[in-house]
This record gives sequence, structure tokens and C-alpha cells, in this order.
Amino acid sequence: MTSAVSEAIDGVRDVLSRAGDSVVVGGKPGPSATGEVIDTLDPATGEVVASIAAGTAADVDRAVAAATRGLRSWQELSAAARARVLYDIAALIEEHAEQLATLETLDNGKPLTESIFLDVGIAAEVWRYYAGWCTKISGQTLPVSPPVGSSFTYTRREALGVVGLIVPWNFPLLITSWKLAPALAAGNSVVLKPSEMTSLSALRLMELIDEAGMPPGVVNMVTGYGPDAGQALIEHPDVAKISFTGSTATGQRIVAASAASLKKLTLELGGKSANIVFPDADLENAAQGALTGIFLNQGQVCCAGSRLYVHRSVHDDMLAALESAARGIELGHGLADGTEMGPLISAAQRDRVEGYLQAGTEQGATLVCGGERPGGELAAGSFLTPAVFSGVRDDMRIAREEIFGPVLSVFAFDDESEVVGRANGSDFGLAAGVWTSDIKRAHRVAHQLQAGTVWINQYNMLDPAAPFGGYKASGYGRDLGEESLLGFTQTKSVWVSLD
Ligand code: NAD
Repeated sequence: MTSAVSEAIDGVRDVLSRAGDSVVVGGKPGPSATGEVIDTLDPATGEVVASIAAGTAADVDRAVAAATRGLRSWQELSAAARARVLYDIAALIEEHAEQLATLETLDNGKPLTESIFLDVGIAAEVWRYYAGWCTKISGQTLPVSPPVGSSFTYTRREALGVVGLIVPWNFPLLITSWKLAPALAAGNSVVLKPSEMTSLSALRLMELIDEAGMPPGVVNMVTGYGPDAGQALIEHPDVAKISFTGSTATGQRIVAASAASLKKLTLELGGKSANIVFPDADLENAAQGALTGIFLNQGQVCCAGSRLYVHRSVHDDMLAALESAARGIELGHGLADGTEMGPLISAAQRDRVEGYLQAGTEQGATLVCGGERPGGELAAGSFLTPAVFSGVRDDMRIAREEIFGPVLSVFAFDDESEVVGRANGSDFGLAAGVWTSDIKRAHRVAHQLQAGTVWINQYNMLDPAAPFGGYKASGYGRDLGEESLLGFTQTKSVWVSLD
């Protein structure tokens, strides 16, 4: 480990030392009811960096009770006062950007520059965006018909109550912010369940939320394993809604558990996104977009452009450019200078990805480069070199299943309608990319693709104002934008007799 990495870790030691108190109930951080902990590892070294509380159903019960009490104090504040708290949270995130980014990189492995600009930078903007919404949530007056003039009728957008937010490990602070900021802006109180693998940035966020003047009990957190803390939250009768991002399998469990109390759900699940390069595209930009589309965050991105369809006339040139660029990507500790790609989240995740590398080769695809464990000082971490497959068929496992790792499958295609059909021939529908200089084709194809987001001549762009979520098995409901905010409200029609 270089001295720069050790120094960066030393800079967050005080936060790490508080990690055991990661169950936050009624504004008070503390251990779990059982006192059990979960070790959190630096995936670049395999070393334990902290131990977080392993919360269970007893902690979730306490957190939901605190959130039920906290709801009133949040709703008694004026909309402007609630907005001020959210604006202050955004400012505090920016003020502590380096510390939050260091925690995120240490916990997740991603390069520090990604943590600073993408995770922390966009998270602050998300808080600011939803702070603005606090004072703009309004109902309508309705032109009801008979009996004419006898009633005045209007709608109110009301909060749901206590909502449960369950977050994965790939963008911990960012996805927490995607859910928490709109839930609060809409007037709900919250129980947050971060991933057991990456709870450190949420731990620090809870402290900043407290510093911003949030009334106690409005935001509560229970860290712990999914089948313990998570399952208790999704089964809790006093939780009105679950907003979840994670795997399809867990999403299906949440749908089943929601039946008992008919909870409202927003589910952001997996993806297998198609990125389509037409021959008239700016090929240099397209190659760059294809690379960041798949290798950002070590490929552990739900909207990763993992299926790259390249027109046959430019396929070989594009493949050569991708191979050369992929071979040049610098692997290292996310906190080290010059690192372009960090480790996968865990050894288990790397094993899983290696299973797909093997399946791809066995089913007849050609591994052009990558898919190796680097040696030397990276050998202790869960690193994997960026992999590119060519000669992939649509029926292969690497073409159909979400790998969630740095593995790109490249396909050749011949014409537009063929490639749209193949791109749509997936169970998933989270995102897609189109690279072309033909404006008519760009929009035509974008309209035909079955995906919640389509990027044209760019990839992985996100903004708090733009809704994000899936078609088909990629989930339902949306994060971000007005749609997410409205998903944390319910509509009441009020009828007033004028007779
Ligand atoms: P996961 O489903 O295992 O875990 C996600 C969260 O759910 C974690 O906090 C986990 O503790 C919790 N959980 C697990 N089992 C639970 C249960 N029985 N009840 C309640 N909560 C439970 O997913 P992951 O491994 O953390 O994340 C990777 C997956 O998430 C990938 O498949 C990826 O595609 C998907 N993902 C999707 C998006 C999106 O926006 N669509 C974003 C990020 C990740």
C-alpha cells in the first residue's frame, strides 16, 4: 500500500472508529440490539477497515417506531423550513466531499475521482434538486360536473408515512440520496437499510443530516444483512412503501412480501443494456462511450452497456480500438494516484464474474482480452482485468444474463430493424445507447428501444431532473425527477359542499 493510500485511510479513521454505532434510531447512533457486527473490507486489499452493526428485526422495529413519531415533527415544519434542511444537507455533502469520497472508495473500491465527481458530486445536486421541490408540491382544483356549482373539489398530494429505502453496494451514497431526498421532500419519514458491504458513506451522511438540523426520528438507519434487517423492513406492517435498488431476485422477494400489507413499491433492478454503433457514427466517440459504458465502476453498474452491437462494416476496427484501450486501463487501489479501475466489490463477486468468463468461452465466444487476476501487490484484492468478448451470439449466457462486472460482449449487425429487434430481445429494459450522425435514425431507434433511458451519442449521463428506471424485468417506478417525488406521495380528493 502506498503512503498516499495509507494517508487517505488515516484521514477517515475517526469515522471508521464510529462504524459500530451504525444503527441510528430517533437521532441516536448505537450498536445493534444483539451487539453483533459485520466486518467491512477494503476490496483492494481484503483487509478489514471497520465493523458495522448487524441490525435485525428488533432494530427495525425500534427504527420504524421512531420514524412513526418523527413523521409529525417533519410535517409540522413549513415547506420552506424543510427545504432549508435539505439545502443544508447538500451544502454539507459538498463541504465534506473528499471525506465522503474517500469512504466510498475505501468501501466500494472505485477510483477516487469517480467517487468525488460522480457519487458525491451528483448526490449533492440531487439533494439540492429535491430541496427545491419541497415548496412546489401542489394539488389541483377540479372542474367536477354534476351537480353544477354545488361542490368545490381539489386534490392534495400527501406523504405516504414511514417509507423503507433499501440500497445496493455499487453507488451507495448516490442511490441513498436518490431515494432519501425525494422521500423527505414529499414529507415522509424514513428507515434506510444500506448494503451490508458499503454502509460507511451512509453512516457519515446520517451525521451530516443531523448536523443540518433534521428533527430526530425523521431519518433512521438500520445497517445489517438483507435477510435480517432488510427482510424485517419489507415485512413491517407500519411501512407504507419500499423503494429498492438491487438484484432481480431480491426485488421478487420484496414483491411477495409486500402482498400482506399491500405496500407501495419502487423497484430498480438489473439490466443488460444494448449500446448500438451505426457506421455513420463518430467512431472515436463511440469507442470511448462503449468503454465508459461498460467499465465505469468496474462494470458494476445496473445500466452498463454490456451488449455492444457494432455495424459489420466497422466492427473489426471498433474491436481493435476497444481491445487496445481495454489493455491500457490502469488497475490499482482506488485511493492511489493514476488508478483508472479498482477491484470488484468482493472476492465472491469476482468468482461470479469469472463463472461468466468461463461460460462465454465454453459457449464459443472469443475472449479478446482481459478477465485475468493481476499479480503483485494487487493479488490480495478482488481485481479483474477488463474483458472483451467478440463473436457473441444473442442466445449465450453472457448475452442474456447480467454479469455486473467488467465484461463487454461485442456483436456484429447488418441493418437497423435487425439490431433494434436484437437489442429488445432481452428480459431487461433499463437503458440503451445509440451512436449515429443521422438525426432521424437516432430518434427513430430511440423510440423503438424498450428501455427506460436511451442515450444518443453519449452514455451514462444522469441528472436529478431526468427519471431513471426500467422497462420489463428491470423494475417499475422511477428514481429521480418529478416522478420519483410523486412516487413518495398519494393523492387525496377533497369535496366541499357549496350548497
Ligand atoms: P441485492 O439485491 O443482493 O442487495 C441490494 C440490497 O437489498 C442490499 O441492501 C441487501 O442487503 C438488501 N437485501 C438483500 N436481500 C434482502 C431481503 N431478503 N430483503 C430485503 N432486503 C434485502 O443486490 P446487490 O448485490 O447489492 O446489488 C447488485 C444488483 O443490484 C445487480 O443485480 C444490479 O443490477 C442491481 N442494481 C440495480 C440498479 C438500478 O438502478 N436498476 C442500481 C444498482 C444495482
